Amino acid sequence: MTVGLDTRLREVLGKKTADTLAEGLGLETAGDLLGHYPFRYAQRGERTDLASLGIGDDVTVAAQVRAAVKKTFTPRSGKSRGRGRGELLEVIVADEAGRSLTLTFFNQGWRSKELVAGRWGLFAGKVAQFRGRLQLNSPQYQLLAEDAEDPGSAIEEFAGTLIPVYPATAEMPTWNVAKAVHTVLGLVPSPPDPLPAPLRERLGLLDYGTALHQIHRPDSHEYLGAAKKRLKWQEALVMQTVLVRRKAASAGEAADPYPEGGAILDAFDARLPFALTAGQEQVGAEIAAELAREHPMHRLLQGDVGSGKTLVALRAMLQVVAHGGQAALLAPTEVLAAQHHRSIAEMLGDLADGGQLGAPTEATQVVLLTGSATAAQRRPVLDAVRTGTAGIVIGTHALLYDGVDFANLGLVVVDEQHRFGVEQRDALRAKAKKPPHTLVMTATPIPRTVAMTVYGDLETSRLTELPAGRSPIATHVVPYTDQRWMHRTWSRIREEAAAGRQAYVVCPRVGGDDTEDPGTNEKRPPLAVTDIVEELRANQLSGLRLGLLHGRLDPEEKDRVMRAYAAGDIDVLVATTVIEVGVNVPNATAMVVLDAERFGISQLHQLRGRVGRGSHAGLCLLVSEAFEGTPARERLDAVASTTDGFALAELDLEQRREGDVLGAAQSGMKSHVKLLSLLKDADIIAASRAEATALVEADPQLERFPGFAALVDDLAADRGEFLEKG
Ligand code: ADP
Ligand code: MG
Repeated sequence: MTVGLDTRLREVLGKKTADTLAEGLGLETAGDLLGHYPFRYAQRGERTDLASLGIGDDVTVAAQVRAAVKKTFTPRSGKSRGRGRGELLEVIVADEAGRSLTLTFFNQGWRSKELVAGRWGLFAGKVAQFRGRLQLNSPQYQLLAEDAEDPGSAIEEFAGTLIPVYPATAEMPTWNVAKAVHTVLGLVPSPPDPLPAPLRERLGLLDYGTALHQIHRPDSHEYLGAAKKRLKWQEALVMQTVLVRRKAASAGEAADPYPEGGAILDAFDARLPFALTAGQEQVGAEIAAELAREHPMHRLLQGDVGSGKTLVALRAMLQVVAHGGQAALLAPTEVLAAQHHRSIAEMLGDLADGGQLGAPTEATQVVLLTGSATAAQRRPVLDAVRTGTAGIVIGTHALLYDGVDFANLGLVVVDEQHRFGVEQRDALRAKAKKPPHTLVMTATPIPRTVAMTVYGDLETSRLTELPAGRSPIATHVVPYTDQRWMHRTWSRIREEAAAGRQAYVVCPRVGGDDTEDPGTNEKRPPLAVTDIVEELRANQLSGLRLGLLHGRLDPEEKDRVMRAYAAGDIDVLVATTVIEVGVNVPNATAMVVLDAERFGISQLHQLRGRVGRGSHAGLCLLVSEAFEGTPARERLDAVASTTDGFALAELDLEQRREGDVLGAAQSGMKSHVKLLSLLKDADIIAASRAEATALVEADPQLERFPGFAALVDDLAADRGEFLEKG
């Protein structure tokens, strides 16, 4: 039998092992197993810092046996008294730093023969605590060879200095994974190399077989480094080739052109009460020119909160409407969709009165479609969308449903892209007869490497300045435990209200029945809006008009509250992060964020963008229990120290897990990107982008490199069936 990466593990490993690998770790083929990389490498003599182990964690640690003691054990429970009497073996192991951990074994005294002082081993189990000491009860373990050169000694598997530690399960501890990997590596010593050979040679990358061997059983740190580099290159190049090909394919598609200008856009521009910022002018011109082409636009518009993206989008929509097309605006929440609808209708004035008596001839209709609309409310809206009388259609996910048919969808605008996957963007695009133009707007500043990966198939524009007349936001961290500061915080809110302005109070949690299980970490649950609003009403902010907003209110109530707040009928809005994106009340000047350390950096930056949108200075107070010097407090200090959204986004990325970054935007990428770090491998990503572009230009179908083409097709398919639609 020839064994390849496609061979099923059942055919090369024992049935039991193969089944456990499949069930516990989802590994079915030789290729799956060889792609299951160690997540770290233990070393004899390493400092694991046993003291930092968390109770309840499943761990695998490298440690040295220090002592073994046998004790008699009498169970306390009456039932088994007499019968369950037995022997308890306690083994003390320690790491190089001298921190120790107790292992306990019941009625397995024979183990003291092998667990002798001085031996190093890997020990795996769940961390428990007994009388203040950390212990592993009946751990699984594997002793390491006495020394690397000692052929007769215990486990050949661990003769190397770097011991692979795999993501594992109780049934399949790391050393059994290692054993299976060893077997399979022996059967598939040199799998076909998917990387184009000329590129691999030019860049001096290890061949595939060597790289796989060295990532699993490294001969040295140098080899491990070279193996990682080679495998990262493969991940990056495949990913970039998918994106470059997608971009090339859509550049070749035919779209309806919408010439620049047009009656409704000109009428709108003529009544705009302010001048466009230089950035709005420039980006607006780019977009206008692209809409006029016969190929679909795919553009990402980045701009900090309040930079005026919506206006840019509206002008693009009007250009399309002016020439008989329709534009759809997809918003992430009902609150935002309703707000867009309101503010766009307001900005348009009678230009939104299309079909009504006395409206200007160039006027159109602006409709709102959300999931909460009743069938009776939807019918006229759906009609207007189908017949084309509605030029601008604003909505949530409800726009994606079957039964929403457009007469002539020419432009899709997606607001706050990070809430939507590529699949949704494409589902809406699929509703158009020809590929529509697409504009994606995001207020989350995106670091360069992320833009190149997650949004690698889009052109990007940035709005870097805020419209004139915007006031800076001052941000301060307030220690929750400091009475004086807290008192000052609430009196600042009262002062704002007394001056006729408004404020937000933000909490991490809704409250009521959603209490999180605080689990073993014994932290109190995050503060909840439903509790805080009562407390503030009764005490700190008594006499002020308080409103409550969170995601579990029904949409009509949400809308009612937002309207009341926008109209100035509410002084202080106590809310969860539903107010995070896009909410625009220029009279709101102050924000208090409670339990601020529970929010991410970018999230806090977004939140504070809700204040200081008018001509008065904005104030944001981040209330937290985090002590000075802790990472949590440092994040808050960072937010307080700068209003540069891009700098904060880079910081945020450092603190998040890679998978979260990629996974949020593109589900399929996750399983293909195992080693590549968006943050640390910026060089590889940028270089592979250039290589991918050259490859695709020279050979669009990648006919010269079928092995590589297969990987590219796999990833493209995993990214969702919508991708190649249209
Ligand atoms: P974003 O969507 O980027 O957060 P918006 O488009 O909502 O920002 O703009 C925020 C506010 O600024 C809106 O009230 C908008 O009318 C106003 N605005 C937009 N462009 C300008 C400009 N050039 N000059 C003055 N105000 C502007
Ligand atoms: Mg906005």
